Amino acid sequence: MSFYLGIDFGTSGARAIVIDSRENICSEIQETFKKSSSNNLATCWQQTLFALIEKIPLQIRQEIQAIAIDGTSSTVLLCDKQGNPINDPILYNDGRGITVLENLAAIAPPNHLVLSATSSLAKLFWWYRQPIYSQASYFLHQADWLAFLLHGKLGISDYHNALKLGYDVENLCYPNWLEELPIRDLLPQVLSPGTLIDTVKKEIAYRFNLRKDCLVCAGTTDSIAAFLASGATNPGEAVTSLGSTLVLKLLSHTRVENSQYGIYSHRFGDLWLTGGASNTGGAVLRYFFSNEELERFSSQIDADRASHLDYYPLLKPGDRFPINDPQLPPKLEPRPADPVQFLHGLLESIARIEALGYRRLQELGATPLCYVYTAGGGAKNPTWRKIRQRYLQVPVVSSDYAEAAYGTALLAKKSI
Ligand code: ADP
Repeated sequence: MSFYLGIDFGTSGARAIVIDSRENICSEIQETFKKSSSNNLATCWQQTLFALIEKIPLQIRQEIQAIAIDGTSSTVLLCDKQGNPINDPILYNDGRGITVLENLAAIAPPNHLVLSATSSLAKLFWWYRQPIYSQASYFLHQADWLAFLLHGKLGISDYHNALKLGYDVENLCYPNWLEELPIRDLLPQVLSPGTLIDTVKKEIAYRFNLRKDCLVCAGTTDSIAAFLASGATNPGEAVTSLGSTLVLKLLSHTRVENSQYGIYSHRFGDLWLTGGASNTGGAVLRYFFSNEELERFSSQIDADRASHLDYYPLLKPGDRFPINDPQLPPKLEPRPADPVQFLHGLLESIARIEALGYRRLQELGATPLCYVYTAGGGAKNPTWRKIRQRYLQVPVVSSDYAEAAYGTALLAKKSI
């Protein structure tokens, strides 16, 4: 039997999923981070990685052919010559880069994706100004560093993780403005996600009873891994994530970028994965209803009938996509006394915003929408699916697999 291992590092824990050659899940293991005050966060990730591998049943572990790892986008580390982190990692949402944005704006092209306080490049620039920078040899993303622990090669990343570092994913090179900077020497070599890097190190194979020829490939980011898991593969296919917020991702022949709406595209082989995120979504539903009420009231809604309520459900003013207005007021009136009617209006209004989002992406040049997979807590609501289908005018289905680790296991399998 051949097996493929995908490992997903999230914000509070990590998950490993092993699939077989038919892409069925054979083993699934989850670990939460156990960070103590005495150890560096990177040490905690390392322990979690090893604990996950160790917990895979031996007969499966011995037959793993390839491993891939995804990490949280823009979670980064600064390492010495041996690959040891010389500082605590900087997490995806850490905004300390705000202090270097002005300098960055003088170098990067206007409206570039790196011009954000949380971009990987802003974090590297922030480190550049710290005394510790003189000890640094490598700047890596979380997924790059964790893969290095398995294959032992330093300075390698993938073009999903490297997008917010300023890597030019169209021409597959670092742009000149980045090449000329003093931080140039620390930038990783960038490969296509899924490219085979090397076999696992001898000591790793020995310690975990892995095959000596078990391969480690270039990884990806957690949100792209979740997209890979959904099953969407063709242009026009999309994944809507109905979690706390509403996130749209549409596979397109064309690249779409619009900083005003926070729209950007990842390279996806010969295609582009374009998307945007709205502040509306499940967090507003949760504010008014419990999960049990959401299910009970949803089952009483006639999905074929219009509610005639037109809301813009937000918890606080402001949205960027599909309407870019930092002051956009939440619209939740008129509120009917009947909670079923109110929920009907909310579900319909979020569906309307989703449809507007896909329209916006298409107006900006994306391939027309033909099929929508759904992930996140709202995916299990059949009434909502029907309502959304009415607005989107394309088939809407629930993703069979929603775990990022499953998508990363697929990436490992495709690498061979
Ligand atoms: P995140 O990871 O973004 O916090 P999840 O993907 O776990 O979110 O989804 C949680 C959201 O799903 C909650 O905000 C909740 O309102 C929504 N949700 C849960 N059950 C339902 C349901 N039956 N119908 C619609 N939304 C639901």
